[in-house]
Amino acid sequence: MLSIFSEKHLLHGGLMEPASDHWIPGAESPERANNVLAAIRRVGFGDVVPPDEFDDTHILAVHDPDYVRFLESAWDEWLASGEQGSVARPYAFVTDGMRGAHTENIYGKLGRYAFDIFAPIVAGSWQAIRSAADVAMTGAQHIVHGESSAFAICRPPGHHASADLAGGYCYLNNCAIAAQSMIASGRSKVAILDVDYHHGNGTQSIFYDRDDVLTISLHADPAFEYPYYLGYADERGAGDGLGYNRNYPLARGTRWASYCDALMDALQRIQNYSPDAVVCALGLDTYAMDPTTDFAIQSADYSEMGKLVGSLDAPVLSVLEGGYDIDSIGMNTVNFLAGLRSAKT
Ligand SMILES: [Zn+2]
Repeated sequence: MLSIFSEKHLLHGGLMEPASDHWIPGAESPERANNVLAAIRRVGFGDVVPPDEFDDTHILAVHDPDYVRFLESAWDEWLASGEQGSVARPYAFVTDGMRGAHTENIYGKLGRYAFDIFAPIVAGSWQAIRSAADVAMTGAQHIVHGESSAFAICRPPGHHASADLAGGYCYLNNCAIAAQSMIASGRSKVAILDVDYHHGNGTQSIFYDRDDVLTISLHADPAFEYPYYLGYADERGAGDGLGYNRNYPLARGTRWASYCDALMDALQRIQNYSPDAVVCALGLDTYAMDPTTDFAIQSADYSEMGKLVGSLDAPVLSVLEGGYDIDSIGMNTVNFLAGLRSAKT
């Protein structure tokens, strides 16, 4: 299976994040993607290639142009405002009853284009963000050109990013951009299956009123887990998209047996949809030892998960999302991909 990787992800790093009353090293670190790459190379899993470079067409089909331009210029604007330091981070956000579009202040804009404080900007962020989109689009093109599977090692991740909001370590929605590029390449139906521990709120919102992209997410119930405000079972889509979004909120401590039941139901829905291609938002933060989450999926379970996803009668592009146990993310990713590959051959 071909994997796509860009070293530009290294430009987005060195970040800290709040934990109650102190700051800790950011869980979404460069070591994540590096360890995934190292594991793929260690087991001789297949070729790893750099991304091709694409123009912004598919990005602008799923993201607000002003938002994309803001991400591109945010660091320079922050410097030009006279700020010192190494991180631009929002702290004030637009809520109902406030006016969001009337500020040119850099902090006003940072908050206008984010829904939380977990998507800060550093000097190299845009290059990493934009390159991750290229990684996803390159993977999509391999699928369009006939590969049965491919793996996009995207970093930063993307599934929390909506059309015009960053958050949850996400800026551009790599899976949405990949799916959109497949549609633009003539595929009439694409399914996005999100197996990250957290709800793919950005992906859901981008395609909520569309029937050409089925969005399905298995995740920790937002009643007790981030992102709290989306991801409930009654969110089924709207307008043309009604019936084309499905959420599987799962209980704290979910083990493989009950996860598998939900996954089988999700896969049947995808099969019924009969997509031309599947994009799998591959988060490894369902892992039992993940320091940030509360499911109980074991390493061996990822092989089974990969096999089940690979049994779909459509090519599968896997796209790296979350996963914060640095020591295991490589092994768990390889287990998933090996299972998927075995089902495709
Ligand atoms: Zn996650």
